[in-house]
Amino acid sequence: MICGDCDKAILPGEPYRTYNIPSPSGPGTTVYFHTRSCKKVPVQTTQGPIRRH
Ligand SMILES: [Zn+2]
Repeated sequence: MICGDCDKAILPGEPYRTYNIPSPSGPGTTVYFHTRSCKKVPVQTTQGPIRRH
């Protein structure tokens, strides 16, 4: 399982919580989070750094 906050693996035995995102079409998505506070990674855009050719 990967934590949705810090994007790190949730190790076996570590407390975690789940959050279900229902989807109107098909099964919902379950995301996992560490129960303890962890470092949230900033949301990155799919675009890379702007380069000028
Ligand atoms: Zn985490």
